[in-house]
Amino acid sequence: MESLTNIELLVLDVDGVLTDGRIILDSDGREMKQFNTQDGAGIKYFQRAGKHIAIITGRESPVVERRAAELGVKIVIQGAKDKLPAYESVLAELDLTDEQTAVMGDDLPDLPMLLRCGFPIAPANAVEEVRRAAALITENPGGEGAVRQAVEYILKHTGQWDSILERYYHESHE
Ligand SMILES: [Mg+2]
Repeated sequence: MESLTNIELLVLDVDGVLTDGRIILDSDGREMKQFNTQDGAGIKYFQRAGKHIAIITGRESPVVERRAAELGVKIVIQGAKDKLPAYESVLAELDLTDEQTAVMGDDLPDLPMLLRCGFPIAPANAVEEVRRAAALITENPGGEGAVRQAVEYILKHTGQWDSILERYYHESHE
């Protein structure tokens, strides 16, 4: 897959991609979400490989900011009712093209970005229209390692996955 070697940026939706799509609200209206640690590690590996992660979500929640900070994700756009302008602003900021960008989304608001980018990805739980637009559908659903699978898929195609692994195999022999 030729296009994958150009990918420098992975844009992630939150609900249904980084989570299983469930939102837990407490009586004060505070929102809780569950994130997956294997996804988190994958995001770090992707950045360690010299690539960028950006988060674009239609909702607004402090927990997203918190999780992004933990993972060193600097570009977080929340409350993006229309995601395409947000996507365009991220590419402009990083000086990247559509061909250098992968997008992972699960629902219709993600479609304009998915149709525009060089490598569209859907988690297993994505709606039919999104799955149809995707070049890769992960085996795992959102919140259960789908992002990790997408990251591994890209880094294996760019030949960078082995160098991620090396570090751990190397340390185990010391
Ligand atoms: Mg979503």
